[in-house]
Amino acid sequence: MREAAGPTAGTSHAVTRTLSRNESPHGPLPDIVAAVAASSRDVNRYPDPACTDLTVALARRHGVEPDRVAVGAGSCALLQAVFQLAGPGATAVYAWRSFEYYPILAGHLGVHSERVPLADDVHDLATMADRITATTRVVVICNPNNPTGTLLGLDRLRAFLDRVPPTCLVALDEAYFEYVDEPMGTGGLALHDRYPNLVVLRTFSKAYGLAGLRVGYLIGAARIVASLREMTLPFAVSAPAQHAAVAALALEDVLLTRVRQTIAERTRVRAALLAEGFAVPASQANFLWLRLGENAGPFGSWCARVGIELRVFDGEGVRVSLGSPSDNDAFLAAVHQWRVRNAPELLTTGALR
Ligand SMILES: *Cc1c(COP(=O)(O)O)cnc(C)c1O
Repeated sequence: MREAAGPTAGTSHAVTRTLSRNESPHGPLPDIVAAVAASSRDVNRYPDPACTDLTVALARRHGVEPDRVAVGAGSCALLQAVFQLAGPGATAVYAWRSFEYYPILAGHLGVHSERVPLADDVHDLATMADRITATTRVVVICNPNNPTGTLLGLDRLRAFLDRVPPTCLVALDEAYFEYVDEPMGTGGLALHDRYPNLVVLRTFSKAYGLAGLRVGYLIGAARIVASLREMTLPFAVSAPAQHAAVAALALEDVLLTRVRQTIAERTRVRAALLAEGFAVPASQANFLWLRLGENAGPFGSWCARVGIELRVFDGEGVRVSLGSPSDNDAFLAAVHQWRVRNAPELLTTGALR
């Protein structure tokens, strides 16, 4: 590709638009701020180590017994517990490319990674099932997948789960579940009773807008939940985080209205990107994946120079979070400028499709 030309002379940007972390663009609702403020009066005390109120609220919300819910300092803490439970020397099967934290955790905890390449940006569940051996203790499935945004339906998950031995845990990471607008009911939780080796991970970091407070949860069989709770650090979820999460559950209707705005932006931004000639798989999350190949790095640098921060995977693609409409407009303006200057042929050759 040609050397990327600089942004328009005289262009300046006062703000950095962070579209690299899949955060909610919305600040906390007043009730959330109030819950955090109220619990801040007691920070000389340790928080409730059992996260009792939040656990009960989540159990009620999902129609399960509280002993099937584990709360953690972000779902990443619970993923860590899952890899810890697998234990050093075990193997974890997961798709690649997927969430970057899986190989990091595996590496830290001495778990061997068996990565199965995505097929057309989607989990290749048949091959993943083939790769399960006697040493495989866990399979992680990110659904919708980060960074591609692609979704596996329940029928395919069910067919996969039928092939997994009951001794192997399946961790279904549904961090972006609330952004799914295809009919899939309660997601992995619908499969729960039939597959006791399935655990479903959710988070308050994305749709509920509490990334900075660190709180996520997992639902699974009581026996597995008990083991995972033992693996997490005591007092890891702060009182402000616990109270804010309880408040967020009570405000779910308002928060899900915000989610619907993000879904509308996802449709709008993807359509604009396709019209520019970019290859963008249909996303069911709060981000889009631009399969740019060797253009990924230069495109990411271009956006950085105009104050737009993306997640760049060199040689593969970039992931852009859906921000406020104004953030997304700024991104689309940068996309257009880049395309016109550096790749005017794309529209006619469809090279990025
Ligand atoms: C953002 C994200 C999480 C959430 O992590 P937290 O620790 O709950 O903030 C989990 N899994 C995936 C795939 C994610 O992208």
